[in-house]
Amino acid sequence: MKAFTYERAGSPEEAASIAARPGTKVIAGGTNLLDLMKIQVEAPEHLVDVNRMPGLDRIEDTEEGGLRIGTLVRNSDLASDTRVRVRYPVLSRALLAGANGQLRNKATTGGNLLQRTRCYYFYDPSKPCNKRQPGSGCSAIGGFNRIHAVVGASEQCIAVHPSDMAVAMRVLDAQVETVRPQGGRRVIPIADFHRLPGNTPQQDATLEAGEIITAVTLPPPPPGVQLYRKVRDRASFAFALVSVAAIVDAHGGSIRGARLAFGGLAHKPWRVTAAEDALAGKPAQQRAFDDAADAVLQGARGQGHNEFKIPLTRRVLAGVLAEATHA
Ligand code: SF4
Repeated sequence: MKAFTYERAGSPEEAASIAARPGTKVIAGGTNLLDLMKIQVEAPEHLVDVNRMPGLDRIEDTEEGGLRIGTLVRNSDLASDTRVRVRYPVLSRALLAGANGQLRNKATTGGNLLQRTRCYYFYDPSKPCNKRQPGSGCSAIGGFNRIHAVVGASEQCIAVHPSDMAVAMRVLDAQVETVRPQGGRRVIPIADFHRLPGNTPQQDATLEAGEIITAVTLPPPPPGVQLYRKVRDRASFAFALVSVAAIVDAHGGSIRGARLAFGGLAHKPWRVTAAEDALAGKPAQQRAFDDAADAVLQGARGQGHNEFKIPLTRRVLAGVLAEATHA
């Protein structure tokens, strides 16, 4: 590991002003950053530790009937909070599907949103990777790409976002609160928080340099059954090949409304309005499930090893919708 200097920030404003300096990285739980530093994929000159920022490790009720989750709330604490388990079970289930108990005890809400892809080549400095070194090429295109994207990818990068929590937050229409280095606060809808790779795959999120996440706000839960289903290579401690976060409001064999977000398919949690429109007002039957899958997968393209994700997504979605509607 390359030598670095270290300091603690006492407030988000202080953290943002330090983090805006070139060569600085923010550390909270450190569950991803330290791994990247050990293999010198990340080699910051300076670390600013945000773990002591006061008041940001709380989960609070909002006046609107939602929840405000401080950026330092640990994944374990969020998953086990009674309000989350009762009102936002999709979020609790997604969190518990991620990593393992030890990592969830350290990982924070803000850090989870900002974790980097687990593309094998991103973690191998001997291989070209546009995300790690812009302009060097993408080893996954034409390489081993079993875990890679089938929608929203570019010629520069076909990586997927690894977070389960972010997929649940996407289906819940969460909002991310931040403090900017030049002062002032910002609220970013989660739909706009993560990026598709395009020509700048090195940027995972729309945060400015130095901008610090302070909280994630959840609106009141929408009506309906909440489910999270994750398909992976082993039962624990593995990233999603395909995951689905679903909130389905059904009655008497028909679907009044549905929300769907997917992990493992794209560079960001994948949500397609047309898929939800294809289900609203329809009988809870395979035909509607197929129409929704067609919309989710419009333009989907495999890269060889990952082509199985396209039919797998159809089957996982149909299974989740059948469970949610008792079809
Ligand atoms: Fe790098 Fe993205 Fe290609 Fe993986 S898919 S090698 S992260 S550019």
